[in-house]
Amino acid sequence: MTADIGKNIEQIDQEIARMCSHAGVPKVAPRLIAVSKVQPEERVRTALEAGHRSFGENRVQEAQGRWTGLKSEYPDVQLSLIGSLQTNKVSQAIDLFDEIQSVDRIKLARALAGEMQKQGKNIPLYLQVNTGAEPQKGGVMTVDLPELHQACKDLGLMVVGLMCIPPADDDPSLHFALLKKLAKREGLQGLSMGMSSDYALAAAMGATDIRVGTAVFGERDYNQPT
Ligand SMILES: *Cc1c(COP(=O)(O)O)cnc(C)c1O
Repeated sequence: MTADIGKNIEQIDQEIARMCSHAGVPKVAPRLIAVSKVQPEERVRTALEAGHRSFGENRVQEAQGRWTGLKSEYPDVQLSLIGSLQTNKVSQAIDLFDEIQSVDRIKLARALAGEMQKQGKNIPLYLQVNTGAEPQKGGVMTVDLPELHQACKDLGLMVVGLMCIPPADDDPSLHFALLKKLAKREGLQGLSMGMSSDYALAAAMGATDIRVGTAVFGERDYNQPT
């Protein structure tokens, strides 16, 4: 399995480049964020040794355990937080991550602004949008997005894009199209959308970031200690 990880990354990169040129997407192919949550360190190391540097994690504590050491070994790693963030973890998150893609409420934006000032940082942020209006899911509701974005700007935060996780059994293209429309309306360039099952579609629809776990590393084993 680990032997395939470098090849998986290469194939996904080629496929998204092909999709972009086929769809006439007039810019560089999206960044492939390899989602390493729950994966054994051996697989993550294989991706690093294959030269991959962009990774995503969805939990601060798990990411700290894995990446504090690996980031000092590989200082050019770019780590994205793609999971929901509690305000009591903001300090650790700002310390570890190079960007946060899951900003979804004003209270969190305020906490991030305060903590970044304290740590002398201003990392790029994405606003997560709950495009399916699912009550159990994170993300700002579409009607509340302009207010959240404005609040972030007023706080001096560097918002660069939007992120969404479509409902599992909806056609993802509806959500990708909605996210793109919202980003345009808000004047934002970044579009983080597309996972293992739909990254090619997302790339063709103008994603700037795709977040792929299983198709890079293989299935996650939630029963294994990582
Ligand atoms: C786990 C996760 C992914 C990757 O999911 P796969 O289906 O394994 O590609 C992408 N985005 C978020 C927010 C995730 O939590």
